[in-house]
Amino acid sequence: MAADVIVIGGGVAGLAATAALGRAGWRVELLEARPHLGGRATSYALPNSGVIDNCQHILLRCCVNLLDFYERMGVTDRVEFGKDIPFVEPGGRVSHFQRGALPAPLHFTESFLRMSFLSWADKVCVARGFLAILWERGRREDLEEISMLDWLREKGQSPSAIERFWRQVLVSAINEELDRMAAIHGFQVFWLGFLASSTSYEMGVPTVPLGELYTSGAWDKMPNVSIRLRQPVERVLVSDGVARGVVVNGEERAAKVVVSAVPFEKAAALAPEAGIDVSAFTHSSITGIHFWFDRPVTALPYGTLLDRNLQWFFSKDGGRYLQLVVSASKPWLKLPRQEVIDLALAELAEYLPGVRAARLENAQVVKEARATYSALPGLGKHRPGNRTKLGNFVLAGDWTRTGWPSTMEGAARSGYMAAEVVTEMLGKPERFLLPDIA
Ligand SMILES: Cc1cc2nc3c(=O)[nH]c(=O)nc-3n(C[C@H](O)[C@H](O)[C@H](O)COP(=O)(O)OP(=O)(O)OC[C@H]3O[C@@H](n4cnc5c(N)ncnc54)[C@H](O)[C@@H]3O)c2cc1C
Repeated sequence: MAADVIVIGGGVAGLAATAALGRAGWRVELLEARPHLGGRATSYALPNSGVIDNCQHILLRCCVNLLDFYERMGVTDRVEFGKDIPFVEPGGRVSHFQRGALPAPLHFTESFLRMSFLSWADKVCVARGFLAILWERGRREDLEEISMLDWLREKGQSPSAIERFWRQVLVSAINEELDRMAAIHGFQVFWLGFLASSTSYEMGVPTVPLGELYTSGAWDKMPNVSIRLRQPVERVLVSDGVARGVVVNGEERAAKVVVSAVPFEKAAALAPEAGIDVSAFTHSSITGIHFWFDRPVTALPYGTLLDRNLQWFFSKDGGRYLQLVVSASKPWLKLPRQEVIDLALAELAEYLPGVRAARLENAQVVKEARATYSALPGLGKHRPGNRTKLGNFVLAGDWTRTGWPSTMEGAARSGYMAAEVVTEMLGKPERFLLPDIA
């Protein structure tokens, strides 16, 4: 029997849509081109290195739809939340950013005052910036159009406060430089993650390879869902302005509704009849570096790294295996693999003295040139909604109009929003999307 819904793409967006529709009882067929699920948030086996993530992915407690999706998958216990965000300076000095006794939005006051990498003048600057966010949020209308850097300069933020605080947090959260990032995203990160609640900043790090978040027994409990790998959809079948199914591996497969959950660069070609315009979108890259040492090199579980190219490290296997992340890493794309390794190792030794005595036993470099879309000022109005001009053809994906930047939460939201539209089209509307925490 034909499926009610075909979902194209097994990234977080497609999986979230499938999980919501599957649990609601619809017959769903998910078609994923690759041999594994997860899309850009995935893991795979490499010779000599075992299973690695394409890059460490993290979430915050305010990612409520992603957490809801993990709940549906039965894997919330595979994500560990930390209450401390260590900021590490070259030389190894660590400042711990964590909540204290005061209620939100003052919960960081004690640790903020103790942060040794910011001068008192910078702290006053940042505090003024927070007050401006609290005041302007919801009032100011040009935040989609101006860059975060323009906004920070308008607020008189010092170059060192911008570099060591605002940039440090935002470039990795949004994966774009401050002058290429719409201010609305900076507002959202600081409002939802830092100001609205005292727990929302807690950082969730999966304790398993990313792929193990999607292969749980949850799918077995949904016999109405079929997950099919190595199924690259060639195009959506359209007649009389309505999607009727897809062509995959030369074969036609029918469905009442088709959901595209592929990245923007793939979406337009799947159904040219839908006239999806992605010309305003560009990519931003992330480089992940994996180091295996012969001994533990740190006792910290993770930390954000100031003043150099590396932005984050995540420690596994008792401090022997480190995943390093460079966001907005365009300059790194051109570097040969060995140069990336040498540069990263030299920088890492500045932060973690233990690295100098340790022997690097293995290294992997993963350059993701198309990691996210660039959250440019002015892009917001070009992000499409879930409905298209074709009947029964629905869009999902982190690039659609979710209210969030290109993240797993944005992808999960898009999946739930698309699933809601699907249930309307099938005549039994249901709600899946959870509202933001504030
Ligand atoms: C290196 C890196 C680090 C990141 N770090 C973080 C982080 O720490 N936190 C965070 O929240 N986000 C992070 N992100 C962003 C996050 O991974 C993405 O925003 C999110 O996973 C996008 O999900 P998606 O489902 O919209 O798209 P995708 O993950 O791209 O999924 C689309 C799927 O569609 C499949 N597909 C494409 N074409 C076809 C076709 N024709 N037929 C069938 N299938 C097809 C693809 O194979 C893919 O599996 C990171 C991304 C990268 C690359």
